[in-house]
Amino acid sequence: MYLKGVGPARAAMLEAKGLKTVEDLLSYAPFRYEDRSNVKAVRQLAPGEMATVLAEVRSAKVSGFRRRNLGLFEASFTDASGGILLGKWFHGAYLADVLTPGLKVSLYGKVEWDSYSGGLVMMHPEYEILSGDDEGDASIHTGRVVPIYEAAGRVTTRHLRNLLYRILESIEPSSDPLPPHILAQLKLPDRWAAISALHFPPPDSDLRLLNSFRSPAQFRLIFEEFFWLECGLELKRAKARLYPGIAFELNSRVRERILQMLPFKPTGAQKRVLKEIADAMAEPHPMYRLLQGDVGSGKTLVAAEAAIIAIENSYQVAVLAPTEILATQHYLYFKKLFQKLDYVVVLLTGSNTAREKTQLRKLVAHGLAKVVVGTHALLEPDVEFHKLGLAIIDEQHRFGVEQRQKLMEKGTHPDVLVMTATPIPRTLALTVYGDLDVSIIDELPPGRKPIGTKHVEESRIEQVYSFLRKQIDVGRQAYVVYPVIEESETQAMKAAAKMHDHLSRIVFPDLKVGLLHGKLSPDEKEAAMDKFQRGETQILVSTTVIEVGVDVPNATVMLIEQAERFGLAQLHQLRGRVGRGAEQSYCVLVTGKLNQTAKERIRTLVESNDGFYIAEMDMKLRGPGEFFGTRQSGMPVLSIGNILRDADILELARNEAAAFVAHAPAHEDLRRAVAYLRDHWQRRYGLVLVG
Ligand code: ADP
Ligand code: MG
Repeated sequence: MYLKGVGPARAAMLEAKGLKTVEDLLSYAPFRYEDRSNVKAVRQLAPGEMATVLAEVRSAKVSGFRRRNLGLFEASFTDASGGILLGKWFHGAYLADVLTPGLKVSLYGKVEWDSYSGGLVMMHPEYEILSGDDEGDASIHTGRVVPIYEAAGRVTTRHLRNLLYRILESIEPSSDPLPPHILAQLKLPDRWAAISALHFPPPDSDLRLLNSFRSPAQFRLIFEEFFWLECGLELKRAKARLYPGIAFELNSRVRERILQMLPFKPTGAQKRVLKEIADAMAEPHPMYRLLQGDVGSGKTLVAAEAAIIAIENSYQVAVLAPTEILATQHYLYFKKLFQKLDYVVVLLTGSNTAREKTQLRKLVAHGLAKVVVGTHALLEPDVEFHKLGLAIIDEQHRFGVEQRQKLMEKGTHPDVLVMTATPIPRTLALTVYGDLDVSIIDELPPGRKPIGTKHVEESRIEQVYSFLRKQIDVGRQAYVVYPVIEESETQAMKAAAKMHDHLSRIVFPDLKVGLLHGKLSPDEKEAAMDKFQRGETQILVSTTVIEVGVDVPNATVMLIEQAERFGLAQLHQLRGRVGRGAEQSYCVLVTGKLNQTAKERIRTLVESNDGFYIAEMDMKLRGPGEFFGTRQSGMPVLSIGNILRDADILELARNEAAAFVAHAPAHEDLRRAVAYLRDHWQRRYGLVLVG
């Protein structure tokens, strides 16, 4: 469709923002609304309030900083009330050519008292020029509640508003794609009415509802977006359930073997989750399941039970871990658990010698190795299984969908169990991890005491050391972690080695201090962990390689240096290394000066030990895209819905979608929905419906 005013330059900028068609534009939701039917007069403004004014530029100047582009731009504004308002923009010299005297503008921002001028000021207000362009009739932009869009390159909110006004004027309403019974039951407004009101809210609209994305129109459109997404996911899952797979038998012999292995009584949550997994494994279709649980909730034990089911059905099990240390941990843990059962457990990593590799591969290919633990080395093409039945993948967020696929291709439709220690609510997990079903361990093994977490500034590190000594004097052990950024393990290793030197020679010359980092050989790593495990070293200085998997119940202190440099999930993981025994444990977060979000992160940890809460805060602080690594997980970019802000609507939409796919009122309804999905969602969200 040809749109007046959208030349090739603007079209390119719109396209760069994913706005290619009229439909894309119609779904491009304003992020805020301004009530310009009822704006404040400049004279009535008061310090402290957020306000919109319509005013005229009276005078403007750039005050001389050293360089022109650093200039402070100041303009004064006035309106019919005769009041004067200043606007100030740092680095605003470019505005001298934009906000010229005589222009009519709308300003939105926080009103403050300006002690320099003795008047009112807005710092960096949002502005929109109301005169002097050809962006349609002024009545589109003033005298009503107006939408504010995120600009697309140099396509301003004003261009977009005008564009949408003209589109809405010129095109024919289309019929509503949502199933009629859902529309009626949830009393949702018609799609066309909702889209019009999204862009141009009716005069009596509630501005507060609009700006919290809960006007009836917004609710309907958010619901709709989630509904189609969830329908797509449900259909995809339903289809995956039809592939042929292995029907593992859970007979009394298998049960016997599980009981024989168990070192302790499983928690209620572990039992429930094992049943979910065993039921899925018994189906003659592949299982794709995400196992969520907080750090230390006993996921690995459940995975071991699942492994027994596969092995007793004469299949092999692969365990894929993101790091060598974690793979080594899993290897040792499984070896210990399976000792009584006489299963051969092997470890395959990048640091095996060529000869070891050849031997290990033979064991795997001939089916003698029952459990094959490893890092990415497992995925290499020359690793062939005799009969792979179950793939266990630890730490979802480090592996992409492709790697999961590679591992699965080593068997014939093996079952897949993905473990993650960054737990999120079920609905969210089902949405974000798309094709996976979800099991959640929501209970910790008995006797765990909440870990006391404290934040201490660098300057008071001596106090931390004396606390550490007291704990060691009563027989406990401690970790000291140097969490330098992941990519630079070399740098982290250097920092940890230096710290090790400092602690062992100067601070604790009488104690045994161990050192663990990623550059050690596998034997050295195992030796360092062994010594700490046996209590031969009292302090273990480490990089974040111990983030996951290490398990020493006597360790009661986790001291994290430069904690501000790390993400919430990682800090919570690290903290999870303590609090595993009967004694009270502590986590000390040592930091330098903190910026605002670092403060929030540290505060969150000090306040809470709950992995679900921490994951939620993490999502809030980083945004869902960053948190999930959107592209990797295959989660589509949404146009109006926000999985965090709109968690309640997501829940509703998911329930409705699941019910609809399972038993649509008439087959015709489902057929129409599938056709609609194919036409409208395949293009926008290609990933969701592949296959
Ligand atoms: P996760 O992998 O979920 O972080 P793990 O499986 O590593 O947790 O278990 C953490 C610790 O708790 C391990 O020492 C494990 O042996 C122990 N554990 C697991 N389940 C139980 C249980 N039901 N009762 C007591 N201890 C348990
Ligand atoms: Mg674990």
